[in-house]
Amino acid sequence: MSARILVVDDQAANVRLLEARLQAEYFDVCTAADGFEAIEVARTEQPDLILLDVMMPGMDGYETCSRLKADRNTRHIPVVMVTALDQREDRIRGLEAGADEFLTKPIDDVALFARVRSLLRLKSVLDELRYRESNAALAGVDTEPAGEESEAAGAVIVSADPRAAGRYAGALPSRVTARGVSDPAEAMVAVQDGTDLLIVDLTSPDYDGLRLCARVRSDAATRQLPILAVVNPDDVSQAVRALDLGVNDIIHRPVDAGELSARARTQLRRKHYADRLRDQLDQSLEMAVTDPLTGLHNRRYISSRLRQALASANNGGAPVSVMIADIDHFKSINDLYGHEAGDVVLQGFAGRMQSALRALDLAARYGGEEFLVVMPGAGMAEARIAAERLRSAVAEEPFVLEDGTDIAVTVSVGLAQASFGETFEALLRRADAALYTAKNEGRNQVQAADAAAA
Ligand SMILES: [Mg+2]
Repeated sequence: MSARILVVDDQAANVRLLEARLQAEYFDVCTAADGFEAIEVARTEQPDLILLDVMMPGMDGYETCSRLKADRNTRHIPVVMVTALDQREDRIRGLEAGADEFLTKPIDDVALFARVRSLLRLKSVLDELRYRESNAALAGVDTEPAGEESEAAGAVIVSADPRAAGRYAGALPSRVTARGVSDPAEAMVAVQDGTDLLIVDLTSPDYDGLRLCARVRSDAATRQLPILAVVNPDDVSQAVRALDLGVNDIIHRPVDAGELSARARTQLRRKHYADRLRDQLDQSLEMAVTDPLTGLHNRRYISSRLRQALASANNGGAPVSVMIADIDHFKSINDLYGHEAGDVVLQGFAGRMQSALRALDLAARYGGEEFLVVMPGAGMAEARIAAERLRSAVAEEPFVLEDGTDIAVTVSVGLAQASFGETFEALLRRADAALYTAKNEGRNQVQAADAAAA
């Protein structure tokens, strides 16, 4: 499917002209005649890009852009502002309003399509992240943006001219720590170091700046790093090549400090947004499988793994045993020492459990102080050895609180080996019954279930 572009202009003739040029390049075009309509269409049509006229009666382009960027339903859509005058103040005002790019009327086709391609690439990355964000939201992860304007950031500036590099560094927002380097080899090393922005002077004849940009884009560690390229205003073909190589933004020489600062902020804001979405994805994936207190697997995860292991055993695969371990008198630990002490014991117990088990075993916190271990390939003999190792590892040495208090802890364990065709529920019932026996017989012991009734 081709990309959908929203053209906003109060002059019908301008709309028709842009529409025709975009359609000739096979873009799908929708239109709006003012800012209010633009916001409405952006919400409902979800275009991939918005070309927004600045001078409009009622609500001008700046205000329209600010509103689009404040709305979580439209803030991910790149906005290109179209201005009649190439005024520095207008550009900076637009960047402040959250515009992603500028084009000056009359619009040059080469510049237009290079910008459009570059922004559509960016949008496809953000779309993927947004899709994951909706899953993260389902998992209960906060998806509101954090205040990025105060966060420290690092930039690398590549220029053969140290005075120019110094000027660029001076123009960046104060929270950005800049480092100047004079050649691409040095730059490749510098950008590996947690950089948030790369500024490359493409006007230097001393090195191949475009090749550096291509390398940064192709290296997995730096693929997402925003690149801002400095070019000569008359070198349109270099700007287009840079954008097609994946450079995120272009700034013309002589570099205006205010404009560089605004463009750098735009890039940092986008990177922050994308980084945050990625973190949330990692977090939601981890939350889906991990118990946050102990770092062991959670109940949902272990249940699905046990069902898989049973299905495989029933298909003629290796045997599988389960262990249910329950900390003895845990409630009195909480009552006596408080919940924080209880957490320390749970965490310490999880650590001893992991060192007592076999490498293949999967351990999970199943409920409050109850743990379930799935032991793929283990018959009752192996399961009993591991369980006994766990029991003694817990009983032999007390758990120590931060204030030095010792807490003696024991554990009771019930074991069961799955019999052919046995269900998940039936297997856990047998292991539970064995655990009940261990508790009844005096705790601090391992009991194995009888074989399942045939
Ligand atoms: Mg107008």
